[in-house]
This record gives sequence, structure tokens and C-alpha cells, in this order.
Amino acid sequence: MLTLLAILWASPWTIVGLTFGLFGLITGGRAQRIGRVIEFHGGHLPHWLALAPFVSGAAAITFGHTVLGRTLADLEFCRTHELVHVRQYERWGPFFIPAYVLCSVVLMLRRKNPYWDNPFEREAYEKEGRTQN
Ligand SMILES: [Zn+2]
Repeated sequence: MLTLLAILWASPWTIVGLTFGLFGLITGGRAQRIGRVIEFHGGHLPHWLALAPFVSGAAAITFGHTVLGRTLADLEFCRTHELVHVRQYERWGPFFIPAYVLCSVVLMLRRKNPYWDNPFEREAYEKEGRTQN
């Protein structure tokens, strides 16, 4: 029951991820389900990930219960990190991206790094057990 609520709460961003994932699929990409997460890679996704803000050339990005990766190897390498973001979406739901962006803006105004100093990233790197990259 809690899982269903968490999936519904995060669903606005999951829909965004599914939309990108679908375009990845029709441009030759692939999808797989890992637990409650749907992962997409390949197709045009690597080109879009190269345009991701703050982290030009991100290996993977999470939207709700979807993860978009450049390659299958990238998805496997980033899985623990992205799963922390999935849990953050389950906590923050529709407010996750606004909260993330607000943190980044405040950090930039304080001349800090909008990605590495972002508390959502710090939690993800802390819980996955590696420091940077
Ligand atoms: Zn991250």
C-alpha cells in the first residue's frame, strides 16, 4: 500500500521520464524493469543527457520511478545513486524538481556548486558510498 502511494506521489515526474524513455525507445533505445524502477538507455538518450543542466554529460538521470542512462553499463554503475534519487522522489513527489532547482539556485547565489553541494546529491553520494563520480 505504501509503495503504491509512493508510486502515485512520484507519478508526475515518472510520466516525464516515461515520455523521454518512449522517445529513447523509438530512436533505437532499450528498457528494463529493476524492482519498481523502469530504466531506459540508448537511442537518442545519450544526446539528451549531454544537454542536462549543471552536469553536462550526465551518465544517468532519474525522473520519479524512471532512470534514463546513456548505456547499460552507465545504468549499472549509477544504480545505487539513482535509487537514492528514486527514494527522494517518493518523499517529495511533485515538489522534488522544484526543491532540487531551488537548492541549486540558492547555492549558485552563494557561489557554491549547484550540483556537488546540492543536499539531494550529497545524500545520494553519501548513501551510495562513493564521494565524487
Ligand atoms: Zn544524483
